[in-house]
Amino acid sequence: MKNSFFLKCITALLLTFNSIYANAQSTISQPGYYGLQIGSIELIALSDGTVPVSAMDLFHEAEQPEKVSHLLLQAHLNDPVEVSINAYLIKLTDKLILVDAGAGHLFGPAYGGKLISSLQAAGYQPEQITDILITHVHLDHSGGLTNNDTILFPNAIIHLNKKEIDFWLMHCEPKKDEMKGITSARSSFLALKRYLDKGKVKTFEGNVNLFPGVSTREYAGHTPGHTVFILESKHEKLVFWGDLIHIADIQLHGPDMYNGFDFDKQQAVEQRKIAYSEAVKEGYLIAADHISFPGIGRVRQSNERMIWQPIPYSLLGRTR
Ligand SMILES: [Zn+2]
Repeated sequence: MKNSFFLKCITALLLTFNSIYANAQSTISQPGYYGLQIGSIELIALSDGTVPVSAMDLFHEAEQPEKVSHLLLQAHLNDPVEVSINAYLIKLTDKLILVDAGAGHLFGPAYGGKLISSLQAAGYQPEQITDILITHVHLDHSGGLTNNDTILFPNAIIHLNKKEIDFWLMHCEPKKDEMKGITSARSSFLALKRYLDKGKVKTFEGNVNLFPGVSTREYAGHTPGHTVFILESKHEKLVFWGDLIHIADIQLHGPDMYNGFDFDKQQAVEQRKIAYSEAVKEGYLIAADHISFPGIGRVRQSNERMIWQPIPYSLLGRTR
């Protein structure tokens, strides 16, 4: 997530609702991981926590406040919506691959920052992670790579789209009159830069195969090099959506519901349209960083409406 809206939201909304959510989090504890099987590959969803986001503010640029308000009511959601921050662990035979790294401490002490404890609860240590796929450089996706400038995954190679690096190398140093969104997202690049300086970042361009069963597909718009990752095994397919969507109950009703986090709003809308239509047609699984944890399910269409269908809870790791 990024840009001027983010800054405004975090300073106003997060502070406003800080005490409410802090109280809720102090008495209730949720398990931070959930495992499932994609073909012969084990996948574990990991929670980095949640963050309150006002849907009314998030979508205000789309200028459809009545629609947003109606959809919130219909979904029985209060505003601000408590948005999940999810990451995922792919277990290959010889590799442990994280998909995104959460927000770390960049949202302050009350939100995010739970990825490491979720990973440990699932039975793994950060030192065991061999590779990290970053969908895009924003606070809640690359912020968790470090803690106070200390690298948290010392043995991992970071993989991301070259366009993300190129963009940030141009904006690494603060400039006068730069977009507020760039200013507010800079710390997420600085977290990544710790790895870059150590030669631990590997870029890719466009759509490539990274590992057996793991490939990339560029869906730019939300950021210049926003990328989804695809996991395939034994005729099963799961697509990691990154930030194609933030609040499903709003955005599944219309890909045109762009938001303040989208860098190129028109392109983001176009990419969402393609993603929705392909997901409905192919019926594959989706893992979405901001859909309620574990954020894994499918999109189906009923008349004009897209509907999110979460995977069933399963002790066997089943997805259907
Ligand atoms: Zn995000």
